[in-house]
Amino acid sequence: MNPPALLLVDGHLDLAWGAGLGRDLTLELDTLRERDPVATETATVTLPELRAAGTRVCFGTLFADPAAGDARRQALAQLEQYRRWEDAGWIRRLRTGAEVAAHLAAPGAPLGVVLLMEGADPIRDPDDLPFWVAAGVRVIGPAWGRTRYAGGTNAPGPLTEAGRALVTAMRELGVTLDASHLDDASFWEALELGPRVIATHANSRALVPGNRQLSDEMARAVAAAGGVIGLVFLGSFIRSGWNVAQPRVGLAELAAHAQHYAALVGWAHVGLGTDLDGGFGREKAPAGIERYRDVPRFLTQVPKEHRAGVAGLNWARWLTRYL
Ligand SMILES: [Zn+2]
Repeated sequence: MNPPALLLVDGHLDLAWGAGLGRDLTLELDTLRERDPVATETATVTLPELRAAGTRVCFGTLFADPAAGDARRQALAQLEQYRRWEDAGWIRRLRTGAEVAAHLAAPGAPLGVVLLMEGADPIRDPDDLPFWVAAGVRVIGPAWGRTRYAGGTNAPGPLTEAGRALVTAMRELGVTLDASHLDDASFWEALELGPRVIATHANSRALVPGNRQLSDEMARAVAAAGGVIGLVFLGSFIRSGWNVAQPRVGLAELAAHAQHYAALVGWAHVGLGTDLDGGFGREKAPAGIERYRDVPRFLTQVPKEHRAGVAGLNWARWLTRYL
């Protein structure tokens, strides 16, 4: 007999962005691969594939590519994509802890999606925040690279004046801060403003240097605020200096990030934030992760008593308590 499937919650998937590339995510993965318009990488994620993996909830991004022009327009188009999927019964948007709890109690329900804005440039100014909250956005990462609001990955710097106003407005409206991509200066300034905080997709800087990953102090601060940190399945975020010309990294190397976090802050603060459709495919994922339904293979690297927590229950606990 097969062991019971684990309930998965993924802290970070760029579903609507992928659809914007022309991928029909309602297809079975094998079918998408046959007709994938994205030739540079092998897709690992579709909605049926997530279901087959046991994924019950994910944070789904609104991500505006800085190279693709008007950020607000991009995010609105992605919002529309999530609405279309919801109308067609593929997903269900989740906005509150009570909705998450009810959703998790209904095993047959479609994928639950918590809207997460990655990079805040689509938000015109803090007065525009209520519009996005009404649309269901519950988590915002002000940075990606540098944005109008914050210093970010490979673009150090503090919050701008608009960034301080945005984080303050987020706190007042109960919108959670995603610390992923925030440069240290912006991170510490934002935390002083007192929003709720998580890191949807960030590995450990102790193993991979650079401001894209969380320092030990940052990880402690996220955990101290009750937050969860999602593990990213991208090779170059798992092993410093890795590139796609090399053999793929191993799942044990990804587990080393989980173990580092667990030693710092405890397993209860460690979850998934795979980013598996975030601009990279199978080629840059760890060996053994050929498609999304292989994600549970990683969990065999986690101590047995913490496996269900890392798979999804840690995020589920956070979501039901704080969303
Ligand atoms: Zn990201």
